[in-house]
Amino acid sequence: LVRLRARLARSQSSLGRGLLSLLGGGDLTEDDWEELEDTLLAADVGVEPTRELVDNLRNRLRVEGVSDPARAREILREELIGVVGPSLDRSLKSTGDDGKPGVVLVVGVNGTGKTTTVGRLARVLVAEDKTVLLGAADTFRAAAADQLQTWGERVGVPTVRGPEGGDPASVGFDAVKQGIADGTDVVLVDTAGRLHTKAGLMDELGKVKRVIEKQAPVTEVLLVIDATTGQNGLTQARVFSEVVDVTGIVLTKLDGTAKGGIVIAVQRALGAPVKFVGLGEGADDLAPFDAEEFVDALLA
Ligand code: GDP
Repeated sequence: LVRLRARLARSQSSLGRGLLSLLGGGDLTEDDWEELEDTLLAADVGVEPTRELVDNLRNRLRVEGVSDPARAREILREELIGVVGPSLDRSLKSTGDDGKPGVVLVVGVNGTGKTTTVGRLARVLVAEDKTVLLGAADTFRAAAADQLQTWGERVGVPTVRGPEGGDPASVGFDAVKQGIADGTDVVLVDTAGRLHTKAGLMDELGKVKRVIEKQAPVTEVLLVIDATTGQNGLTQARVFSEVVDVTGIVLTKLDGTAKGGIVIAVQRALGAPVKFVGLGEGADDLAPFDAEEFVDALLA
Protein backbone atom coordinates (compact mmCIF):
# COMPACT_ATOMS: atom_id res chain seq x y z
CA LEU A 1 0.00 0.00 0.00
CA VAL A 2 2.86 2.34 0.76
CA ARG A 3 4.22 1.67 -2.70
CA LEU A 4 0.85 2.43 -4.24
CA ARG A 5 0.61 5.62 -2.28
CA ALA A 6 4.03 6.71 -3.48
CA ARG A 7 3.13 5.98 -7.05
CA LEU A 8 -0.14 7.86 -6.79
CA ALA A 9 1.65 10.76 -5.18
CA ARG A 10 4.13 10.88 -8.05
CA SER A 11 1.41 10.98 -10.65
CA GLN A 12 -0.56 13.65 -8.82
CA SER A 13 2.13 15.84 -7.42
CA SER A 14 2.02 18.53 -10.09
CA LEU A 15 -1.51 19.45 -9.04
CA GLY A 16 -0.61 19.42 -5.37
CA ARG A 17 2.49 21.50 -5.91
CA GLY A 18 0.61 24.00 -8.03
CA LEU A 19 -2.11 24.49 -5.46
CA LEU A 20 0.17 24.65 -2.48
CA SER A 21 2.65 27.06 -4.02
CA LEU A 22 -0.24 29.43 -4.65
CA LEU A 23 -1.58 29.14 -1.13
CA GLY A 24 1.87 29.50 0.36
CA GLY A 25 2.25 33.04 -0.90
CA GLY A 26 0.16 34.86 1.70
CA ASP A 27 -2.71 37.02 0.42
CA LEU A 28 -4.04 35.78 -2.88
CA THR A 29 -4.61 38.17 -5.75
CA GLU A 30 -7.32 37.72 -8.39
CA ASP A 31 -4.60 36.38 -10.67
CA ASP A 32 -3.69 33.78 -8.06
CA TRP A 33 -7.30 32.63 -7.77
CA GLU A 34 -7.52 32.37 -11.52
CA GLU A 35 -4.35 30.32 -11.59
CA LEU A 36 -5.78 28.09 -8.88
CA GLU A 37 -8.87 27.54 -11.02
CA ASP A 38 -6.74 26.84 -14.08
CA THR A 39 -4.69 24.31 -12.13
CA LEU A 40 -7.81 22.45 -11.04
CA LEU A 41 -9.32 22.57 -14.54
CA ALA A 42 -6.07 21.32 -16.06
CA ALA A 43 -6.23 18.39 -13.65
CA ASP A 44 -9.66 17.48 -15.09
CA VAL A 45 -11.55 18.35 -11.91
CA GLY A 46 -14.34 19.76 -14.08
CA VAL A 47 -15.95 23.18 -14.24
CA GLU A 48 -18.66 22.84 -11.61
CA PRO A 49 -16.58 21.17 -8.89
CA THR A 50 -13.75 23.64 -9.54
CA ARG A 51 -16.03 26.62 -9.07
CA GLU A 52 -17.50 25.09 -5.93
CA LEU A 53 -14.10 24.29 -4.50
CA VAL A 54 -12.62 27.70 -5.21
CA ASP A 55 -15.71 29.53 -3.88
CA ASN A 56 -15.70 27.54 -0.66
CA LEU A 57 -11.97 27.96 -0.23
CA ARG A 58 -12.18 31.70 -0.82
CA ASN A 59 -15.03 32.10 1.62
CA ARG A 60 -13.37 30.14 4.36
CA LEU A 61 -10.01 31.87 4.00
CA ARG A 62 -11.79 35.24 4.16
CA VAL A 63 -14.19 34.43 7.00
CA GLU A 64 -11.44 32.88 9.10
CA GLY A 65 -8.99 35.62 8.14
CA VAL A 66 -6.37 33.02 7.27
CA SER A 67 -2.89 34.17 6.37
CA ASP A 68 -0.94 31.22 7.74
CA PRO A 69 -0.03 28.92 4.81
CA ALA A 70 -0.24 25.82 7.01
CA ARG A 71 -3.84 26.65 7.93
CA ALA A 72 -4.64 27.46 4.30
CA ARG A 73 -3.27 24.08 3.35
CA GLU A 74 -5.44 22.39 5.96
CA ILE A 75 -8.55 24.12 4.64
CA LEU A 76 -7.65 23.19 1.07
CA ARG A 77 -7.28 19.58 2.20
CA GLU A 78 -10.67 19.60 3.90
CA GLU A 79 -12.41 21.17 0.92
CA LEU A 80 -10.80 18.71 -1.49
CA ILE A 81 -11.85 15.76 0.64
CA GLY A 82 -15.34 17.28 0.71
CA VAL A 83 -15.66 17.30 -3.10
CA VAL A 84 -14.15 13.83 -3.44
CA GLY A 85 -16.84 12.49 -1.10
CA PRO A 86 -15.52 11.16 2.20
CA SER A 87 -18.67 9.26 3.14
CA LEU A 88 -19.60 7.52 -0.11
CA ASP A 89 -19.99 3.75 0.18
CA ARG A 90 -17.05 2.39 -1.79
CA SER A 91 -17.32 -1.26 -0.82
CA LEU A 92 -17.60 -3.86 -3.57
CA LYS A 93 -21.07 -5.39 -3.55
CA SER A 94 -20.18 -9.02 -4.01
CA THR A 95 -22.46 -10.84 -1.60
CA GLY A 96 -25.37 -12.67 -3.21
CA ASP A 97 -28.75 -13.50 -1.72
CA ASP A 98 -30.15 -16.93 -0.82
CA GLY A 99 -26.77 -18.60 -0.97
CA LYS A 100 -26.37 -17.54 -4.59
CA PRO A 101 -23.18 -15.95 -5.85
CA GLY A 102 -22.75 -12.21 -5.93
CA VAL A 103 -22.50 -11.17 -9.56
CA VAL A 104 -20.19 -8.34 -10.60
CA LEU A 105 -20.55 -7.11 -14.17
CA VAL A 106 -17.49 -5.26 -15.44
CA VAL A 107 -18.20 -2.90 -18.33
CA GLY A 108 -16.33 -0.22 -20.27
CA VAL A 109 -14.74 0.63 -23.60
CA ASN A 110 -12.12 -1.80 -24.93
CA GLY A 111 -8.60 -0.95 -23.89
CA THR A 112 -9.60 0.80 -20.67
CA GLY A 113 -8.38 -2.14 -18.57
CA LYS A 114 -11.53 -4.22 -18.04
CA THR A 115 -9.94 -7.64 -18.30
CA THR A 116 -7.01 -6.59 -16.16
CA THR A 117 -9.46 -5.27 -13.59
CA VAL A 118 -11.41 -8.52 -13.52
CA GLY A 119 -8.18 -10.46 -12.98
CA ARG A 120 -7.01 -8.18 -10.22
CA LEU A 121 -10.41 -8.17 -8.52
CA ALA A 122 -10.33 -11.96 -8.57
CA ARG A 123 -6.99 -11.80 -6.77
CA VAL A 124 -8.37 -9.43 -4.16
CA LEU A 125 -11.42 -11.64 -3.55
CA VAL A 126 -9.38 -14.85 -3.40
CA ALA A 127 -7.09 -13.19 -0.86
CA GLU A 128 -10.24 -12.58 1.20
CA ASP A 129 -10.88 -16.35 1.09
CA LYS A 130 -13.76 -16.06 -1.34
CA THR A 131 -14.34 -18.50 -4.15
CA VAL A 132 -14.48 -16.84 -7.55
CA LEU A 133 -15.49 -17.74 -11.08
CA LEU A 134 -14.79 -15.67 -14.19
CA GLY A 135 -17.20 -15.27 -17.10
CA ALA A 136 -15.65 -14.30 -20.44
CA ALA A 137 -18.63 -12.53 -21.98
CA ASP A 138 -16.41 -10.55 -24.33
CA THR A 139 -16.87 -13.08 -27.11
CA PHE A 140 -15.96 -10.77 -29.96
CA ARG A 141 -12.24 -11.07 -29.53
CA ALA A 142 -10.83 -14.53 -28.92
CA ALA A 143 -7.82 -12.83 -27.37
CA ALA A 144 -10.03 -11.30 -24.69
CA ALA A 145 -11.25 -14.69 -23.46
CA ASP A 146 -7.69 -16.08 -23.62
CA GLN A 147 -6.41 -13.13 -21.63
CA LEU A 148 -9.11 -13.61 -19.00
CA GLN A 149 -8.45 -17.33 -18.78
CA THR A 150 -4.76 -16.63 -18.27
CA TRP A 151 -5.69 -14.41 -15.34
CA GLY A 152 -7.95 -17.16 -14.03
CA GLU A 153 -5.13 -19.69 -14.17
CA ARG A 154 -2.76 -17.28 -12.50
CA VAL A 155 -5.18 -16.61 -9.67
CA GLY A 156 -6.37 -20.22 -9.54
CA VAL A 157 -10.03 -19.73 -10.40
CA PRO A 158 -12.11 -21.26 -13.22
CA THR A 159 -13.14 -19.35 -16.33
CA VAL A 160 -16.35 -19.99 -18.26
CA ARG A 161 -16.10 -19.03 -21.91
CA GLY A 162 -18.13 -19.54 -25.06
CA PRO A 163 -17.34 -19.96 -28.73
CA GLU A 164 -15.71 -16.98 -30.44
CA GLY A 165 -18.42 -14.73 -31.81
CA GLY A 166 -20.98 -16.46 -29.61
CA ASP A 167 -23.73 -14.77 -27.65
CA PRO A 168 -22.25 -12.79 -24.71
CA ALA A 169 -25.47 -13.13 -22.77
CA SER A 170 -25.35 -16.90 -22.95
CA VAL A 171 -21.78 -16.90 -21.60
CA GLY A 172 -22.97 -14.71 -18.73
CA PHE A 173 -25.85 -17.10 -18.15
CA ASP A 174 -23.59 -20.17 -18.21
CA ALA A 175 -21.07 -18.55 -15.86
CA VAL A 176 -23.70 -17.72 -13.26
CA LYS A 177 -25.28 -21.14 -13.70
CA GLN A 178 -21.97 -22.80 -12.98
CA GLY A 179 -21.36 -20.41 -10.10
CA ILE A 180 -24.65 -21.46 -8.53
CA ALA A 181 -23.93 -25.16 -9.11
CA ASP A 182 -20.43 -24.84 -7.60
CA GLY A 183 -21.56 -22.74 -4.65
CA THR A 184 -19.16 -19.98 -5.76
CA ASP A 185 -19.13 -16.78 -3.72
CA VAL A 186 -18.58 -14.30 -6.55
CA VAL A 187 -18.95 -14.46 -10.33
CA LEU A 188 -17.01 -11.75 -12.16
CA VAL A 189 -18.24 -11.15 -15.70
CA ASP A 190 -16.01 -9.45 -18.30
CA THR A 191 -17.98 -7.84 -21.15
CA ALA A 192 -17.29 -6.45 -24.61
CA GLY A 193 -16.93 -2.70 -24.91
CA ARG A 194 -17.42 -1.87 -28.52
CA LEU A 195 -18.87 1.56 -28.93
CA HIS A 196 -19.65 1.33 -32.65
CA THR A 197 -23.27 2.03 -32.18
CA LYS A 198 -24.91 3.01 -28.96
CA ALA A 199 -28.00 0.99 -29.82
CA GLY A 200 -25.94 -2.15 -30.36
CA LEU A 201 -24.15 -1.70 -27.08
CA MET A 202 -27.40 -1.00 -25.33
CA ASP A 203 -28.98 -4.17 -26.67
CA GLU A 204 -25.98 -6.28 -25.84
CA LEU A 205 -25.19 -5.11 -22.32
CA GLY A 206 -28.82 -4.84 -21.36
CA LYS A 207 -29.36 -8.38 -22.57
CA VAL A 208 -26.32 -9.74 -20.72
CA LYS A 209 -27.68 -8.28 -17.49
CA ARG A 210 -31.28 -9.39 -18.09
CA VAL A 211 -30.28 -12.93 -18.95
CA ILE A 212 -27.96 -13.23 -15.93
CA GLU A 213 -30.72 -11.96 -13.68
CA LYS A 214 -32.95 -14.87 -14.65
CA GLN A 215 -30.76 -16.75 -12.19
CA ALA A 216 -29.26 -14.30 -9.72
CA PRO A 217 -29.28 -10.53 -9.23
CA VAL A 218 -26.32 -8.54 -10.51
CA THR A 219 -24.97 -7.10 -7.26
CA GLU A 220 -22.56 -4.61 -8.80
CA VAL A 221 -22.01 -3.00 -12.21
CA LEU A 222 -18.47 -1.63 -12.32
CA LEU A 223 -17.63 0.80 -15.08
CA VAL A 224 -13.94 0.89 -15.99
CA ILE A 225 -12.61 4.25 -17.15
CA ASP A 226 -9.09 5.03 -18.38
CA ALA A 227 -8.00 8.12 -16.42
CA THR A 228 -5.67 9.21 -19.23
CA THR A 229 -8.57 9.75 -21.64
CA GLY A 230 -9.90 12.74 -19.70
CA GLN A 231 -13.10 14.31 -20.98
CA ASN A 232 -13.38 11.63 -23.68
CA GLY A 233 -13.55 9.01 -21.01
CA LEU A 234 -16.30 10.99 -19.34
CA THR A 235 -18.34 11.08 -22.52
CA GLN A 236 -18.01 7.32 -22.92
CA ALA A 237 -18.91 6.84 -19.31
CA ARG A 238 -22.14 8.74 -19.77
CA VAL A 239 -23.14 6.46 -22.64
CA PHE A 240 -22.57 3.38 -20.51
CA SER A 241 -24.48 4.81 -17.60
CA GLU A 242 -27.46 5.32 -19.89
CA VAL A 243 -27.34 1.65 -20.81
CA VAL A 244 -26.77 0.00 -17.45
CA ASP A 245 -27.20 1.18 -13.91
CA VAL A 246 -23.55 1.79 -12.95
CA THR A 247 -23.02 1.21 -9.23
CA GLY A 248 -19.28 1.80 -9.02
CA ILE A 249 -16.33 3.13 -11.02
CA VAL A 250 -12.84 1.74 -11.52
CA LEU A 251 -10.42 4.40 -12.67
CA THR A 252 -7.42 2.76 -14.32
CA LYS A 253 -4.04 4.15 -15.41
CA LEU A 254 -4.05 6.83 -12.75
CA ASP A 255 -0.30 6.17 -12.65
CA GLY A 256 0.01 7.58 -16.15
CA THR A 257 -1.58 10.97 -15.65
CA ALA A 258 -1.40 14.07 -13.51
CA LYS A 259 -5.10 14.56 -14.18
CA GLY A 260 -6.28 12.89 -11.00
CA GLY A 261 -9.06 15.44 -10.72
CA ILE A 262 -10.99 13.17 -13.09
CA VAL A 263 -11.99 11.22 -9.96
CA ILE A 264 -14.13 14.17 -8.91
CA ALA A 265 -15.53 14.87 -12.37
CA VAL A 266 -16.45 11.27 -13.11
CA GLN A 267 -18.26 10.76 -9.82
CA ARG A 268 -20.27 13.91 -10.48
CA ALA A 269 -21.10 12.88 -14.01
CA LEU A 270 -22.25 9.39 -13.09
CA GLY A 271 -23.55 9.77 -9.58
CA ALA A 272 -21.57 6.66 -8.63
CA PRO A 273 -18.49 6.39 -6.42
CA VAL A 274 -14.99 5.51 -7.57
CA LYS A 275 -14.39 2.20 -5.78
CA PHE A 276 -10.98 1.14 -7.11
CA VAL A 277 -8.06 2.76 -8.86
CA GLY A 278 -5.47 1.18 -11.14
CA LEU A 279 -1.95 2.37 -10.43
CA GLY A 280 0.11 0.26 -12.79
CA GLU A 281 0.07 -2.81 -15.01
CA GLY A 282 0.99 -5.31 -12.33
CA ALA A 283 -1.27 -7.87 -10.65
CA ASP A 284 -1.21 -5.97 -7.37
CA ASP A 285 -1.68 -2.51 -8.80
CA LEU A 286 -5.38 -2.20 -8.03
CA ALA A 287 -6.17 -0.32 -4.83
CA PRO A 288 -9.42 0.41 -3.03
CA PHE A 289 -10.13 4.11 -3.38
CA ASP A 290 -10.02 6.22 -0.24
CA ALA A 291 -10.89 9.93 -0.38
CA GLU A 292 -8.53 11.08 2.36
CA GLU A 293 -5.62 9.00 1.13
CA PHE A 294 -6.20 10.30 -2.37
CA VAL A 295 -6.20 13.94 -1.31
CA ASP A 296 -3.14 13.44 0.87
CA ALA A 297 -1.33 11.93 -2.10
CA LEU A 298 -2.50 14.88 -4.20
CA LEU A 299 -1.03 17.33 -1.72
CA ALA A 300 2.08 15.33 -0.88
P1 GDP B 1 -9.73 -4.19 -21.88
O1 GDP B 1 -9.68 -4.17 -23.38
O2 GDP B 1 -10.62 -3.08 -21.37
O3 GDP B 1 -10.07 -5.50 -21.31
O4 GDP B 1 -8.26 -3.74 -21.39
P2 GDP B 1 -7.07 -4.64 -20.82
O5 GDP B 1 -7.41 -5.18 -19.49
O6 GDP B 1 -6.66 -5.60 -21.87
O7 GDP B 1 -5.95 -3.51 -20.60
C1 GDP B 1 -5.45 -2.73 -21.66
C2 GDP B 1 -4.02 -2.31 -21.33
O8 GDP B 1 -4.02 -1.39 -20.23
C3 GDP B 1 -3.12 -3.45 -20.88
O9 GDP B 1 -1.85 -3.27 -21.46
C4 GDP B 1 -3.04 -3.30 -19.37
O10 GDP B 1 -1.84 -3.81 -18.83
C5 GDP B 1 -3.12 -1.80 -19.23
N1 GDP B 1 -3.60 -1.37 -17.91
C6 GDP B 1 -4.73 -1.76 -17.26
N2 GDP B 1 -4.85 -1.13 -16.09
C7 GDP B 1 -3.78 -0.30 -15.95
C8 GDP B 1 -3.33 0.64 -14.95
O11 GDP B 1 -3.96 0.86 -13.89
N3 GDP B 1 -2.16 1.30 -15.21
C9 GDP B 1 -1.45 1.10 -16.35
N4 GDP B 1 -0.34 1.81 -16.53
N5 GDP B 1 -1.84 0.24 -17.31
C10 GDP B 1 -2.98 -0.47 -17.12
